Amino acid sequence: MRTQLPEDAAVRARELHERAIVIDCHSDILIPITNGFVRMGTQVDIPDPQQYEPPFEIKAESPPWVLWPHSNRFGCIGQYSLPQFQAGGLTAQVCAIFVENDQRDRALRRCMEMVSWLHREVEENDALELATSVADIHRLKDEGKCGAIMAFEALEQLGYDLTLLDLFYKLGLRMASLTWSRRNQFADGLQHDVRTGGLTSLGRQAIARMNELGIVIDLAHLNQVGYWEVLELTEDPVVMSHCSGRGYFPLKAEESRFHPAHDVSRGRERLGALAENGGVFAVFFLGFKDVDDVVDDIEYVLNTIGPDHVGLGSDLYGLHQAPKGLEDISKVPAITESLVRRGQSDEVILKVLGGNLMRVFEQVWKD
Ligand SMILES: [Zn+2]
Repeated sequence: MRTQLPEDAAVRARELHERAIVIDCHSDILIPITNGFVRMGTQVDIPDPQQYEPPFEIKAESPPWVLWPHSNRFGCIGQYSLPQFQAGGLTAQVCAIFVENDQRDRALRRCMEMVSWLHREVEENDALELATSVADIHRLKDEGKCGAIMAFEALEQLGYDLTLLDLFYKLGLRMASLTWSRRNQFADGLQHDVRTGGLTSLGRQAIARMNELGIVIDLAHLNQVGYWEVLELTEDPVVMSHCSGRGYFPLKAEESRFHPAHDVSRGRERLGALAENGGVFAVFFLGFKDVDDVVDDIEYVLNTIGPDHVGLGSDLYGLHQAPKGLEDISKVPAITESLVRRGQSDEVILKVLGGNLMRVFEQVWKD
């Protein structure tokens, strides 16, 4: 391989990024929008960390893990907006609908609020559209617009009635996970790992129905038992929408009080099984110190399971966790540039940026 001059690398990275379909497989932007803190079309500047005073409830001296992993109470403090999506060359953003623990007794209502906010943002922003097909994403790329892909992070809002999945499909749902880190009527999340439960019979029915409808199954937050069960059950390729390839980063003792029982075992084997399924592992940015650290993780997955199963799933959300150089979604081209400098081929980079996720969407989505 020919050594590249730094200027050449920057030029090639820019050209490549402009050409690429870029997909971020996970964002919680709909939480602060639904809570009334931000709007998609309006960019808010990131507060200076030195000057920053948390607005309420969380004290300034709170340790960083209190804010982790989804620091909902802060809103997204300048990390996401449509102008930033466009500056970052994003083609499509997976927008998660996540019902927080304290909203679970009104999960369906909360979910409907978030769905209607997504539809409202699409109606009020010419540059944003609900993407429900692969053709939509190609067209949006040509038109220089951004697609919002509706996803569920956990399914509590369905209650025990899977027919609601059909309705949400009609409203645009194209990706879903069974549970978040908690236990629900479908499966056990990460934090129940030591308690061994996998999928319930309703959870298994949900997998079958998602396969039938053409909804991409997301393995994020599932515990070890459920992970293997879904891979056995599904007829379609799946995604891990936001995760670290090197395993959930090791927690310090004081942090593990809040995040017990994260199981990092069999990581390599789990990655291998995901690749065998034809799935995509989307690397998140959370918890990494800088762009290089994120790209190390991307390369870890590339080296473990090859170029056809890696994607991006930023989960970029919360001031304290934003890596240096990736402080907001507009900085995503820094990943492309780092991959170019490390000598990755155009073909591999295009796959990581969105090509692999497009392949899964093509295989799973019916229209
Ligand atoms: Zn999550």
